[in-house]
Amino acid sequence: MKIGIDLGGSHVGIGLIEKEKILDSQEKIFAREERKDMKTTILQSIQSGIEELLKRNRITIEAIELIGLAVPGTISQGVIVKAGNLNLSHFDLLSPLKQIYQNPLQIRNDGKCAALAEKEYGSLKQYDDCVFINIGTGIGGAVFMGGKLLEPKRYSGFEFGHMVLNKGGRHCTCGKQGCFETYASIKALKMKVTETLDVDSDISGQFLREELLIKDEPGVKEEIEVFLEYLKTGIANLIDIFEPEIVSLGGSFAYYEGNPILEQLIQKLQEPNTTFNSGDLPKIVTASLKNDAGMIGAVI
Ligand SMILES: [Zn+2]
Repeated sequence: MKIGIDLGGSHVGIGLIEKEKILDSQEKIFAREERKDMKTTILQSIQSGIEELLKRNRITIEAIELIGLAVPGTISQGVIVKAGNLNLSHFDLLSPLKQIYQNPLQIRNDGKCAALAEKEYGSLKQYDDCVFINIGTGIGGAVFMGGKLLEPKRYSGFEFGHMVLNKGGRHCTCGKQGCFETYASIKALKMKVTETLDVDSDISGQFLREELLIKDEPGVKEEIEVFLEYLKTGIANLIDIFEPEIVSLGGSFAYYEGNPILEQLIQKLQEPNTTFNSGDLPKIVTASLKNDAGMIGAVI
């Protein structure tokens, strides 16, 4: 049995994992106050979450083969070098955890974790050349070529969300302007839709998806159009660079399976002169492990 920890921009999920199954899990949402000291909040949340999970399942920490962390940011030598959505840089999260736990520990970029889980157990299982795009608070991902995960030596790489699609455009948490994720992340969509509707920005993903289905509110349709245009452009760029057999869309976007937004996106990708090899679009699917992919992949 392993413990997978999925650290998000606004929450941490901790699960007891056996292969592709999450036996039990719990989630801690960071309150606005707690976000002021993210390092302490993250450490305390992980520790209390693990304790609670073990207690509830009557398991001792010795029974845990591995503790794996999926983190939304760039990792180098086990250190979180930059995590814009957590407002953290140069944070060594592993060292304090190593002092608490004797178990083997690992840390990896969350997009890579989710991609590994999809490759091992989910939507990418049958394919060799795959692009996985995690669309949530930010946009991340990973690429497999010939069945192998591409992993650069220097940093995590594959910062899909930070390719600039609009030079001089919206300000990004990374410091650049006009990044893919400032237009096409679920966070960006949610921000624009809630602004337009003048409702609290803390709406649930389900509320957002239902709202998008109605979309006859003035302005919402236009925001969806901007979101889809940027999402299409970013995905088309990745298809042109990697020529995958399949593109799997994960993160909260995985829940858009069956939603007309996904069909609209695919239609847009099929429009002439959208990809270099127009008319021969790879398979476009949503991640079958949904948002659990990060947690499951954290311990692969
Ligand atoms: Zn950026």
